[in-house]
Amino acid sequence: MTPTKQVLLDARRLYSGLIRLHILHHAEKEGIFGLGMIEELARHGYKLSPGTLYPILHGLEENGLLRSHEQGIGGKIRRVYRATSAGEKLLMAAKEKVRELFGELFEDEDVTHLPRTRSRVVALQAANHRKPSAKKAAL
Ligand SMILES: [Zn+2]
Repeated sequence: MTPTKQVLLDARRLYSGLIRLHILHHAEKEGIFGLGMIEELARHGYKLSPGTLYPILHGLEENGLLRSHEQGIGGKIRRVYRATSAGEKLLMAAKEKVRELFGELFEDEDVTHLPRTRSRVVALQAANHRKPSAKKAAL
């Protein structure tokens, strides 16, 4: 394998965990469906095809982290996924790990120099160990 291919493969492995976490995060808040999730992930810079996303959703359901049912949305029947209680528990544990990692990844950075974006808000929260509800105060 060429070094470039290896790097791409490693990037895919790294991001696949982030994508799963992102899916769980949204499915814990509300019902999600494939196409909506593809759009949401694209908004965050992850370009996934249905052929990549659907197997992820099916896998998460098979492992008991999501459950789905068919629902009519906008005149179409869609398969809607929600996090199960096992999914919620795993998400809570994973969020703690993300908070911990985030703090270390950015500990040497002066987050006040980051552009005024959501990343900056999150960085400020992590730096201050604030809860998400305090995000307005961090601005
Ligand atoms: Zn999102």
